Amino acid sequence: MHTYYIKQGEAWNVRVKQAAWLTQKILGAAIQGRLYTRDRLIRWGSITTPVCALCEEADEDHEHLFFECKYSATIWGKLLQWAGISRVVKGWTEEISWATSFASGRRSSATLYRLMLTCAVYHIWQERNWRIFRNQKRLVEDMEEEKE
Ligand SMILES: [Zn+2]
Repeated sequence: MHTYYIKQGEAWNVRVKQAAWLTQKILGAAIQGRLYTRDRLIRWGSITTPVCALCEEADEDHEHLFFECKYSATIWGKLLQWAGISRVVKGWTEEISWATSFASGRRSSATLYRLMLTCAVYHIWQERNWRIFRNQKRLVEDMEEEKE
């Protein structure tokens, strides 16, 4: 344990790993396109409208949520700006390949970038779920079970 306090970078990595179990599950699902977006829920008959709960302007699917959606693009754009990364918000596939080539490895900037992306995905997904499911608790529990 003491080594964690000596090597601050190490401690940071370990804490991120421990604290972000749920977030990692969500990010992992997002990376593989396995989140239960509305286009999929409709196919299963769970909901009837495909409209994105965040912007209410377009149909929700994976590409829309990350980050074509106005709401999502704003959040991610602000995080990029905050980190001093000046580039436009891209689509999910491009974002992931950007992260893979420029933010891999153990540098603290790379760790920060991955944490930022994770936070953005977690926040967007949580907000979207809250809006859709706040009166449909059972569905949320079903999804909790699905994650296992
Ligand atoms: Zn939207």
